[in-house]
Parts: sequence; C-alpha cells; structure tokens
Amino acid sequence: MRRRHILVVGAGPVGTVAALACAQRGHQVTLLEAQERIDDSPRASTTQPPTLEIIAGLGLIDEYIRVGLVARTMQFWDREARAMVAEFDFARLRDETAYPFVVQTEQHKLANMCISRLQGKADVRMGVEVTGLEETAGAVKVTTKRGDFLADYVIGADGGRSAVRKCLGIEFEGYTWPERFLVITTTFDFERALGCCFRNYMAGRDEWTNLFKVAGDDLKGRWRAVYNTRPDESDEEALSASSVRARLARVHAPEADWVHLNLYSVHQRVAKQFRKGRVFLCGDAAHVNNPIGGLGLNSGIHEAWDLANLLSGEGDLDAYERRRRPLNIKYVQEQTVANKKRLEEGRLGELKETAADPARHKAFLMRASLLESARVS
Ligand SMILES: Cc1cc2nc3c(=O)[nH]c(=O)nc-3n(C[C@H](O)[C@H](O)[C@H](O)COP(=O)(O)OP(=O)(O)OC[C@H]3O[C@@H](n4cnc5c(N)ncnc54)[C@H](O)[C@@H]3O)c2cc1C
Repeated sequence: MRRRHILVVGAGPVGTVAALACAQRGHQVTLLEAQERIDDSPRASTTQPPTLEIIAGLGLIDEYIRVGLVARTMQFWDREARAMVAEFDFARLRDETAYPFVVQTEQHKLANMCISRLQGKADVRMGVEVTGLEETAGAVKVTTKRGDFLADYVIGADGGRSAVRKCLGIEFEGYTWPERFLVITTTFDFERALGCCFRNYMAGRDEWTNLFKVAGDDLKGRWRAVYNTRPDESDEEALSASSVRARLARVHAPEADWVHLNLYSVHQRVAKQFRKGRVFLCGDAAHVNNPIGGLGLNSGIHEAWDLANLLSGEGDLDAYERRRRPLNIKYVQEQTVANKKRLEEGRLGELKETAADPARHKAFLMRASLLESARVS
C-alpha cells in the first residue's frame, strides 16, 4: 500500500472515524478541528448494526457498548391513545450481522474515543479553522489562520455548513423543512411510566414525538423527547416553560422536568458532488436529513470507512461518489422523508401487519438498520 498524507477537516464523529481508519491503515494523518474541544451537545446516538461492525473494526466496540445502552427493539406508538401498535425486534437480524441490536451512544463519546486512539498516530490540532483549499500539482494546499498545510488528499468532514464544500463551489441540493425539531432532555423514566422501550416513534396528526433513552456522561440514563414544532411557532414560544410542559403532558408525562432544550432546523440536502479532484466530502458535509430513523450519522460513518479503504487500495477513487451518493439518496433521504410522513399521517396499521409477518418484519429491519445498504457492493 502507498502511504499517503491525508488531511481530515472536522473532528466530529465522521472526521474522527475517517482519521482513525486512515491512521490504522498506515497513512500519515492530520486532523484539523475549528473548536477547542469536541462538541458534546445532544445530537445523534442511534448506532445501527453495520455501523457497530465498523466500530468493531476500529477496535472500539467494547468501550462503545459500555458507555451506551443496548436497544434490542424499536416500537411504534399511537401517542394519543397511549398504545403501542407495532414492535420490531433486531434479533431477527442475527443471521445477518454479529450485532443484531442498536446501541444508543452519544456521538461525542465516539469522537472522543477516536481522538484518544489517535494519540501518537496522527497530528491532531484543535482550534484550527480551515478557511481555504487549493489543488496544486499532485497535492492540496489547505489554508488556516494558523498557517498552511499540504496533503495528498483531503477529507472534508466539517458538517452541514462545510467550508470545504463551499470552497469547492459544490451545490448543496435539496430543501429545508418549514417546521423545526425540539429536543427535550429529561431524567423522567418513560420506560417505567409508559412501558415503552429505549427507541420509540409516537405518531400524531399535528404533532409526533420520538422518545429515546441514552446513557448520559454519568451513565445514569436520560431520555430525549423529539417533537416537531408548528411552522408558525417562534423560538421563544417553543422554548417557553409552558409549552415545554404542555408537550411533555402530551406524551403522558405532565410531571416531568427537563435538563436541556435544543431547537434546530431540519434539512434534506445532498451535495451535487462527493469528490472534486483530491478532495472528498463525508458525513454532514455531503448530506443532511431529518433524524427520524437515526440514519444520517450512520451513513456518514459508512462513508468514512469506505473512503479509508479506497484510499488504501489501488482502486478507482471515483468509486466513492459513484457508490455513496446514490446510496445516501435511496437509503437515507428517501427513507427519512418516508419515516417523517408516516409519523405525521399516523399510518401505523400497515406497520402492525409488517411486524406480524416474519419475512416482512426482517425486510423492514434490513432497510431501517442500513444493513441492506451496507451489503450493496
Ligand atoms: C438533535 C439531533 C439529533 C440527531 N440524531 C441522530 C441520530 O439519532 N442518528 C443519526 O444517525 N444522526 C442523527 N443526527 C445527525 C448527526 O448529529 C449528524 O449527522 C452528525 O453530527 C454528523 O457528523 P459529522 O462528523 O459529519 O459533522 P459534525 O458533527 O457537524 O462535525 C463537524 C465538525 O467539523 C468542525 N468544523 C466545521 N467547520 C470547520 C472548519 N472550517 N475547519 C475545521 N473544522 C471545522 C465542527 O466544529 C465540527 O466539530 C442528529 C442531529 C441532530 C441535530
């Protein structure tokens, strides 16, 4: 294998996985992160089976499971009726993967694990913001306020607002939803109160809720309740104590308190190109989507892994875009839009039938877990 100098922009979960996978394959790696520390705001946690296979490949799986929660099932509820309608059991995937379950581990834990494994293996620089890129003969010059860097290849894993993507002039095609999503983090025990599992999708016509349990940094456990807001709802209204309390009451927890609120805009966008010359886009820099189904970060990690393998072989580097862009459109964009629609329309009857039929149950999980996409060669 030819040892290459690979520069990764962004130490989010995707950039750190890309950096570690490249370093483990013997490349010289530089990782540049604009912030002084890893972002630990509550974002992704759902880790699907094929992503667990990659985390195992990185040598992190035991620690990853230890600091997270194993979720064997996923449930769909009629929120107003307070009734579970369909349950899917990941054990049905036991012949397909060594990890027939989901692990709920917050994304900053993965980034921090990768950073600690990169010690002595890569040049990791925090507080270094990339401001420009220029391809010269056989290399890429990366500009920062702290000096320039030269590398053979650059992986832009610098998130949805990617400076790398903008420097390359690559269009981010798609749209932004009119409503925003509100995440209420609480220590209220929904499992005990409702009898639900660690991953629950609750349908409702004007408003739906997704309820997830994560371990938390203290491993004491907390829940994240995700809601759509009304398109005309102001930030002040959505974040006001009275409306947060009313939302918790609608998920049958009027007495619950909260420890964190997060309101964010939601997009469905895919970069027109995933590669330009010696520069590749990975993760949110290449695509963003609504988080229903927990697919966006997972697909970004799959890209980081694929790219590290491609850069370590003699194969055609164009294969990256040829393979990853259509996979994201088919398995992440289309799927997350369908997931959102299903919750809004409350079409759970069909899911109940799917869950009751063993072949359809498994086929549903193959797609929902991204195993089907991961097995496309
Ligand atoms: C509330 C919420 C819940 C979510 N839940 C899920 C879920 O359950 N499952 C799922 O799969 N996905 C989920 N997502 C999406 C998931 O969080 C993102 O897909 C994930 O963060 C993408 O990781 P990334 O490494 O590509 O980008 P990011 O996490 O955005 O990391 C990019 C990094 O690049 C750095 N950076 C930016 N610009 C520069 C620059 N110019 N120079 C150097 N560094 C730079 C940033 O500081 C940052 O550290 C959720 C998102 C949100 C908001």
